[in-house]
Amino acid sequence: MTILQRLEETVALTREERMLVASVRALAEGSLAPRAAGFDASGDFPWRNVEDLNALGLNAMFIPDAYGGAALSYAAYLRCVMEMSRACASTAIIWATNFHATKPVLDFGTEEQRRRLVPRIAAGGLAALCITEPTAGSDATGMRTRFTPAGEEIVVSGGKTFITNGDVADVYVVFGKWAPLGDGKEAITALVIEKGAPGLRFGRREDKMGHRASSTTALLFEDCRVPRANLLGAPGGGLDILLRSLNKSRPSIAAHALGLSRAAFEDAVAYINERRQSGRRIVEFQGIQFLLADLAGEQALCEAWLWHVARLIDGGAQDVGQEASLLKLRATDLAMRMTTEAVQLHGGYGYCKDLRVERLMRDAKITQIWEGTNQIHRQLLGRSFMQKRAPS
Ligand SMILES: Cc1cc2nc3c(=O)[nH]c(=O)nc-3n(C[C@H](O)[C@H](O)[C@H](O)COP(=O)(O)OP(=O)(O)OC[C@H]3O[C@@H](n4cnc5c(N)ncnc54)[C@H](O)[C@@H]3O)c2cc1C
Repeated sequence: MTILQRLEETVALTREERMLVASVRALAEGSLAPRAAGFDASGDFPWRNVEDLNALGLNAMFIPDAYGGAALSYAAYLRCVMEMSRACASTAIIWATNFHATKPVLDFGTEEQRRRLVPRIAAGGLAALCITEPTAGSDATGMRTRFTPAGEEIVVSGGKTFITNGDVADVYVVFGKWAPLGDGKEAITALVIEKGAPGLRFGRREDKMGHRASSTTALLFEDCRVPRANLLGAPGGGLDILLRSLNKSRPSIAAHALGLSRAAFEDAVAYINERRQSGRRIVEFQGIQFLLADLAGEQALCEAWLWHVARLIDGGAQDVGQEASLLKLRATDLAMRMTTEAVQLHGGYGYCKDLRVERLMRDAKITQIWEGTNQIHRQLLGRSFMQKRAPS
């Protein structure tokens, strides 16, 4: 057993959770991994994979029984994200996005909203979390989408960009500004828009470097009318919902990056144990051993931190912003480094599409950009040490 497998064994899961993780691993290795290159090449949305995930009832694991689910721990959820992304990063992000967008409804929705909106996700529906706009990326507070109250309806105008599951979702959690409250961040408000809402339109699917089978689209809201009953929290309460929801989705993004990174590490180790040059296996060169030690060490430390953050969240901690930022940036920087080194260790063969390390490297890049770029996470983390001074 390797150091990484032993670390995995330390994650506190119930027997039922271990069985589910084993089923996800079997599905990932048996079906998702063999299909990944094909979906990457075609760029088709992997409906077959989504059907397979739904056959296992996987959305249910982050939804309480009362809303049609069978909730398990956050740690179990993260283990499943890792298993999936090790096999097919596109499928993993499609599924993880269901969690990212359903969590705000569970945490901040009314009982009526949870009962009305969540069971369709528990039954296998897709969800999307819509924050980014063409002129508001790293600084989401600059968003321009407007929510204007009109009797029992809210009129939504504006648009979003780069939305994962954008054109396939059943439920959209959308952030915009409550028009009567002006244009500042105190106007940010969260709203649920359901599939088929009048005035909800989609842009084209982005043609991306990696995650080519996940759908990334712009959304356009043209006089889009939504029942006022879909308002999540109070008008102006959106920034708090946004920040608290990101604390739960960022560790998930880290787990996704660590799955990719594990796949690259495993492929590289297998290859350099076989490939020979100068009469020796590549793994026998000391320079390569130093590199392996550094990479395995980083992977182990990031995974250990992932399980630390999972324990905090499973224990009910809310204020995990620093931990989540540190985890997100270290795990995703590692995914980029690991996949790049894996290509390097495969020599020229690593640069060709016949081997999956080429895809892993392309898939890894976005992890440093989405859910807050790593520059932004460094800024958040560094700023958290700034002592407050009274104005002199
Ligand atoms: C495939 C894909 C899927 C996505 N999925 C979703 C989704 O489902 N929902 C959603 O809402 N969004 C999604 N996004 C959007 C993603 O979160 C944004 O792209 C990201 O937040 C960066 O915003 P931006 O692209 O506008 O870059 P910008 O904010 O314009 O940044 C450009 C560069 O400037 C740097 N920069 C910006 N501000 C600072 C600063 N203060 N200090 C130092 N450097 C800075 C950034 O780090 C970056 O390197 C997705 C994007 C992609 C590509």
